[in-house]
Amino acid sequence: MRQQTFFSPTMRDIPADAEAISHQLMLRAGLMRQTAAGIYTYLPLGTRVLHKIQAIIREEMNRAGAQELLMPAIQPAELWEESGRLDDYGPELMRLNDRHERRFVLGPTHEEVITAVIRDGIHSYKRLPINVYQIQTKYRDERRPRFGLLRGREFIMKDAYSFETSEEALAKTYEVMYDTYTNIFRRCGLDFRAVEADAGAIGGTGGTHEFMALSDIGEDTIAYSDRSDYAANTEIAAVSPPDTDQEGTPATLSVEQGYTSGEAVASAIGQPTSTVITSRLFYIDEAPVLILTRGDHEISDVKITNHLDTLDVEAATADQIQEQFGTSSAFIGPVEASSNVKIVADQAIRPLVNAICGGNQGDTFYVNADHRRDFHVDAFADLRIIQEGDPSPDGEGTIHFAEGIEVGQVFSLGTKYSEALGAEFLDENGKSVPMQMGCYGIGISRTLAAVVEQHHDEDGIIWPKALAPFDLHLLVINPKDEAQLTLGDNLYEALQAEGYDVLYDDRKERAGVKFKDADLYGMPIRIAAGKKASEGIVEVKERKTGEVTEVQAEKLPAYLS
Ligand code: ATP
Ligand code: MG
Ligand code: MG
Ligand code: MG
Repeated sequence: MRQQTFFSPTMRDIPADAEAISHQLMLRAGLMRQTAAGIYTYLPLGTRVLHKIQAIIREEMNRAGAQELLMPAIQPAELWEESGRLDDYGPELMRLNDRHERRFVLGPTHEEVITAVIRDGIHSYKRLPINVYQIQTKYRDERRPRFGLLRGREFIMKDAYSFETSEEALAKTYEVMYDTYTNIFRRCGLDFRAVEADAGAIGGTGGTHEFMALSDIGEDTIAYSDRSDYAANTEIAAVSPPDTDQEGTPATLSVEQGYTSGEAVASAIGQPTSTVITSRLFYIDEAPVLILTRGDHEISDVKITNHLDTLDVEAATADQIQEQFGTSSAFIGPVEASSNVKIVADQAIRPLVNAICGGNQGDTFYVNADHRRDFHVDAFADLRIIQEGDPSPDGEGTIHFAEGIEVGQVFSLGTKYSEALGAEFLDENGKSVPMQMGCYGIGISRTLAAVVEQHHDEDGIIWPKALAPFDLHLLVINPKDEAQLTLGDNLYEALQAEGYDVLYDDRKERAGVKFKDADLYGMPIRIAAGKKASEGIVEVKERKTGEVTEVQAEKLPAYLS
């Protein structure tokens, strides 16, 4: 590809909201452009990397016996009613009507569609197991799209769904998918950990693991042991759930009786008051209301939604919350069997809220009839927040924390969707039973950004070989110099003939500009035809190490292989 007409516009003035380094670099290097908040156009450089990631995924999924298909992005709302998720999924679900006022959703995920397809297509154990996958655009109206491709409202996902005759068979496929994901992320050059996780809005009864690319920008915190394989998202690791059967006396927490003191709760859950939470638990219409305040810290980024009140307190201070709620606190609104209370909590109180509420999605918690738990203050006694340096839950090593970007997740769903949508098969005895399901997602566009988060320096991106948009970046330092241009042109042809994908910078720009762009784009190898072109010598630079070697042009293919 000749760079003269290659569409990869660099950008100097990065918008102020581009906080994440991957967001900045992908704009600067012209991999993508924002079209609307959380919605992006992938330019040729970005598209090339996406294709490389997709090729790795296809190879590994096919190797694991999965079959590729393609489902629609637009899905009838009725399917979501059947599964019960039309309400449960909340405002992240993008909804639309057609000209006949028929209701549709833009698919955030595809359990409903695939379960209906399999339900109508498979009726006997003889046709099982089946594992299908697609690479599709997904839509989620994220409350806060940010960090560029890391949290978009439109993004590319690989999602797979497996259907089995038994729990044992599902467990095996789950393991195969776990190993497949390990291979995929390793080949993408990511430093990652697989962690035990919470099933969130996908639900299901079996286990689930998230694949976390380690990075400070990560929105999840993982706890891992330095001596064993133990690793878990702190959403589940940080606290053990309250014992809901425990006898307690809610009376001590009623409005009339006033507050539970912050110290009481803090000591019950073994935290210093300053880092946790003061709490207030009382009852409105007999529904428990818990109010949490983060010690002496400012509360930021907490959104409270319930049927009494909606308050967006992004970056609100304790004072502002005090004004709105009559207490310097955040939240859980009346938890009634009938109400869907959406709670968005910041990192510090997330584990506690999660433990109390049950289901969650990242930093968003939905409390509904299924998740409702009656609890008493005594139940807090069992809450334990894991701290850095604690012994491990499995008895080996000590606990450390790290931030992670969730690039993938595997779920053992059991029969949640097959029962709701009636995906049954006749077993060997002619009995009709629901299929055992698993689902397995990889954020492809997010993986692209996570790779950039992990592979860059102050000059730009440093692509791992397997994902680089081009294998080689060939530069002619001064195209007006006959010898340099001829050598460049010849090498461009010769290297492509050798099977290399070459980006050829034959632009009439200053050498400094070319070198800067080359570092920013980050191809693994840069080859420059410069002053020694007349002697047939080029300069080869490895982007990662910065190591420069002079090589005789005709020896280049041998040198590179
Ligand atoms: P998160 O916790 O970050 O909101 P999730 O748990 O809701 O993600 P899943 O439902 O598990 O996401 O979807 C599978 C994969 O899709 C995720 O592991 C992630 O890599 C990717 N993904 C999810 N939401 C987004 C998004 N808004 N933008 C980009 N990728 C996403
Ligand atoms: Mg999410
Ligand atoms: Mg998640
Ligand atoms: Mg997930």
